[in-house]
Amino acid sequence: MARKPESDVDFAHYMARQGVTPLAERAGGARAKTGRPEAPPESSPEAPPPNATQTALLVGARDEIRRLEAELAATKLRAEAAETRAFAAEARLNRGEALRASRQAAEEAHAAASRAAADLALARQETTTATRRADRAEARLAETTAELTAAQTLLEEAAAARPEPEALDELLTRAGLHDPAIDFAALVETLAEHGRLGDLLRRLRVVPTSELAHYLDDRVAWLCGGCTSTRGHGTRTIVPVAPVECDVCGGSSVQAAAARFAEACRGARIGRVLVVGGSPAYHDMLQKLEPTLGVRLRVIRGDAHSRDKARAQQDVAGADVVFIWASTVLDHRVSELYTGPKVQTLPVRGLARMLTEAAGRLRPR
Ligand SMILES: [Zn+2]
Repeated sequence: MARKPESDVDFAHYMARQGVTPLAERAGGARAKTGRPEAPPESSPEAPPPNATQTALLVGARDEIRRLEAELAATKLRAEAAETRAFAAEARLNRGEALRASRQAAEEAHAAASRAAADLALARQETTTATRRADRAEARLAETTAELTAAQTLLEEAAAARPEPEALDELLTRAGLHDPAIDFAALVETLAEHGRLGDLLRRLRVVPTSELAHYLDDRVAWLCGGCTSTRGHGTRTIVPVAPVECDVCGGSSVQAAAARFAEACRGARIGRVLVVGGSPAYHDMLQKLEPTLGVRLRVIRGDAHSRDKARAQQDVAGADVVFIWASTVLDHRVSELYTGPKVQTLPVRGLARMLTEAAGRLRPR
């Protein structure tokens, strides 16, 4: 490096204090820096005022600084502009990608819309068909309802036209009989003598039937000649019937049937028997027979309306076998409460027949 004139060194120091680096040193970089110490010489504070040459150099340097500053500003502006353009380009690129994505989405949406439209058309067609069917059904319903209403009206009119059933004694009194009970007995006797009692009975109607059945079960014991001496009929009137119709024997021996039943219970290891149904007369007779049967016998009236499902289930649980005695006083509401594998139905009339039938249902084990 050539030795610089003294004035050049002073100027450089001055420029350094102003924060300006000479061009040559900028270009030289690190080498220039290390080649010369940065600290100003001790002579700086006492520097003499600049002469004309120095002033010219100073002016030139200042011009150079302004030019460089302007160039820097312009470069910065260009950089900013380039950055703005870059941003804009990126934004355009993003828009382009978004546009492509949205186009694809639009195509997919269009396809979905087409499918939906096809479904809608099909659904509309089905709706139209269903609506037509519903209309036809509604019309038929209206016709049927009108017919039903007309039929109900006819029925009500017929019911209104039909007189209330009249009690037989009232009818006989109206017919002029002085004492219907005595005169009716005479009428029955006379008709029976002439073989015409059946004509009369066919003309009598009972409404409702179960009411008379309960009445007869409570007050009448139908017994054959051989059974009139048996006990357990209470205050019931004994009406003589043929053995096959007899409440007790039904044409066969009660004692024999009871013995068969007791034997069957022993063979089947049955100790608790529940009978559902049967008139109070039957129940009385069963209670009388119980000591000879060797089982604990329980009976529930066929018109026991206080029974409910829970009570019935308890009844069944407390028995080894349950016999539903049909063909006696037995309301459906009562019998239908008793269900399960222990339950058997005996569709027979007469105590002896019932016991024989029950014995036949028990299997030895
Ligand atoms: Zn009898």
